[in-house]
Amino acid sequence: MKPPELEPEMEEALRRQLAFYRDIGVKEIYKRKRSAAKPASAGVEARIAAGAQAKPASDTRPAVGTKITTAEPRPRISPSGVPLAKPSGLAPIASLLPSELPPLAAADDTLLKIQQDIGDCRRCRLCEQRSKIVFGSGKETASLVFVGEGPGADEDAQGFPFVGRAGQLLTQMIDGTASKEGIPIQRPDVYICNVVKCRPPENRAPQPDEMEICGQFLFRQLMAIRPKAICALGSTAAKALLATKDGVTRLRGKWHKWHDIPVMVTYHPSYLLRPYNQDAKRESWEDLKKVLHFVYD
Ligand code: URA
Repeated sequence: MKPPELEPEMEEALRRQLAFYRDIGVKEIYKRKRSAAKPASAGVEARIAAGAQAKPASDTRPAVGTKITTAEPRPRISPSGVPLAKPSGLAPIASLLPSELPPLAAADDTLLKIQQDIGDCRRCRLCEQRSKIVFGSGKETASLVFVGEGPGADEDAQGFPFVGRAGQLLTQMIDGTASKEGIPIQRPDVYICNVVKCRPPENRAPQPDEMEICGQFLFRQLMAIRPKAICALGSTAAKALLATKDGVTRLRGKWHKWHDIPVMVTYHPSYLLRPYNQDAKRESWEDLKKVLHFVYD
């Protein structure tokens, strides 16, 4: 059946809202079918990430509802990295009214829900060799979020981000700089997570499809926390947040934005652990000072 025509302003509002979802990584929106058990006002549910499902992984039934795509359909990737068949039967944009769409910032998203949606994730090949999914640590209400690249061996074993040598350096940097600058915070006051939640084999850099699939959970984490600023540690985090090919040397020390949230890029602590990186160390401390004063002054 042909969908009803929308007023041009309404169609424009819808397009803008869907573009916003696409930008934060939401690929599909399901409009719940109306049923006797659920009143019409139960509304719409956004499902995020390639195949993200709120239902248990063992439940292979298709999700109930009308699926709206927010983007040009891209190839979907199987856990082993093979492109899957294109989804079919997408509902036309005009079958949703703006008032039925979820609010822009998915106001009720929480870290717990995001972690539940990740579940025992098998969405990309990184699941094959990981021991533990490293979701993130710190306060849900943190004003500052640090984003790293992905778990290393220690993080994979313990299930927490930045607990190895690079993590110890990061802790020293946060606690030491804050204390020197008279800012009363310590590492547990901030939130720390990574672009990918599973350890890449041999600590290789995450690949673009892995970053895209897992990055959608990072975006949800950032949206749920809504910090005053984000500190991107290294080039993988900078790429994921700023969609840039520029290197850290070029990006660091200046403010950028992820949506409306200021982002400071600085060197990854692992890079600072290498010998002969004294200049980078000094620069990192400068960057961190800037971030801490911006957030906590
Ligand atoms: N390096 C990262 O990027 N993240 C961690 O959690 C640990 C090391």
